[in-house]
Amino acid sequence: MIPRPIQHLLLAALHDAFAQWAHPFAFVCRKGCATCCTRSVTMTSLEGDGIMTFLAEGDRLSELAAPAFQPTASRMGRTGQYTTNTFVAAHLRGESVEEADNWDLRPCPFLKEKSCSIYPVRPFGCRLFASLDPCAASGVAEMPPGYLAGATALLQYIEHLDNNGFWGTMVDVLAGLHSGQADGCGEPNAPIPGFLIAPDERTIVEPLLEGLLAMEVEGRPFAQWLQVSRP
Ligand code: SF4
Repeated sequence: MIPRPIQHLLLAALHDAFAQWAHPFAFVCRKGCATCCTRSVTMTSLEGDGIMTFLAEGDRLSELAAPAFQPTASRMGRTGQYTTNTFVAAHLRGESVEEADNWDLRPCPFLKEKSCSIYPVRPFGCRLFASLDPCAASGVAEMPPGYLAGATALLQYIEHLDNNGFWGTMVDVLAGLHSGQADGCGEPNAPIPGFLIAPDERTIVEPLLEGLLAMEVEGRPFAQWLQVSRP
């Protein structure tokens, strides 16, 4: 397993690569719009670890005791849900995959006066949400071709790197990390089984993946760290 501090450096490199790639898209998202900030944002325990450290450094860990951070009753103890990588694996095997239908769309507990109170360490699931059109009224984000395929590939990399970690909603993962009881707070992370990138999306997604895989972190390309994570 890659040491946690290096996993965090790899995560930061991934965030940089994504921000650079997504920069040219004409998204309308602005500070103060929080339509996508719900309790259904998902993440890995690696990202949760970064949030826990951020809260501890700001003497804010007590916030996690608030009722808004209690795991969602309908999801607690549920197992057998898809992570990003097991979802992709099922698709690649040709299985019919049912979308989760119990998302909790109440506001994210980290939302304060329409701004994110953990912005520097928000999970990748928050960073990828974006829309070409204002989505507050419809609730539906308009994304450019290839954007979701590229973002999903990066979600897969994060899950792959967080070997021995787990995946779930942000609220559930934080509850698991805070209590030290991960059982029922997420699903085990899985390795990358392949990608769901359509042929007409490849020219858009390839620069993102190639750029990221070549990035040097602690003297090794990102691609090599992926292999170290899951030999
Ligand atoms: S963590 Fe921040 S960006 Fe993510 S859903 Fe919550 S308030 Fe929004």
